[in-house]
Amino acid sequence: MKKIAIFPGSFDPFSIGHESIVNRALSLFDKIVIMIGYNANKKSFFPIEQRVRWINQVFQNVDKVEVKIHDGLTVDFCKEVGAQYILRGLRTSADFEYERAIAQINKQMHPEIETIFLLTLPEHTPVNATIIRDIVFHGGDASKFLPKGLNMEEFKMNSKKSNE
Ligand code: ADP
Repeated sequence: MKKIAIFPGSFDPFSIGHESIVNRALSLFDKIVIMIGYNANKKSFFPIEQRVRWINQVFQNVDKVEVKIHDGLTVDFCKEVGAQYILRGLRTSADFEYERAIAQINKQMHPEIETIFLLTLPEHTPVNATIIRDIVFHGGDASKFLPKGLNMEEFKMNSKKSNE
């Protein structure tokens, strides 16, 4: 059976921290589906279509990686794509406590699905989407924290739009 993992998140935007987790997990799985969680009631900073396009740009040469949007429970999405694993990144003890509860509840409800955690690389520990959004919102240059394959012109254009 193919080992399929989903990597769920809001990815608003997708950072070098996220990219690194996916790249490091490539040798563990046959396929990784990046699941952008969509909640119609929650306002995002970058439009969802744009987030999909950026992630596709980053992994355009990696066949094993797919990007999909999902509105609902992560475990339901696992069933939909036939995934047995949920991949998550851990930066801090706060991440751990938050993730622990979700993973343990998911395990109780769906014992067949395992959550796999990768510890972030030390240099990516402070990288978080909220801070990146803040930099962009105030007109700063956040490119250091964004994957190389990302079209920066489009990023700036959309940042401006998001600020309007
Ligand atoms: P969520 O809103 O579900 O936390 P995010 O888009 O913020 O979604 O993050 C998705 C996943 O990526 C989470 O497992 C998160 O812990 C992980 N992650 C976020 N930033 C980093 C980083 N800098 N290094 C490693 N993992 C990270």
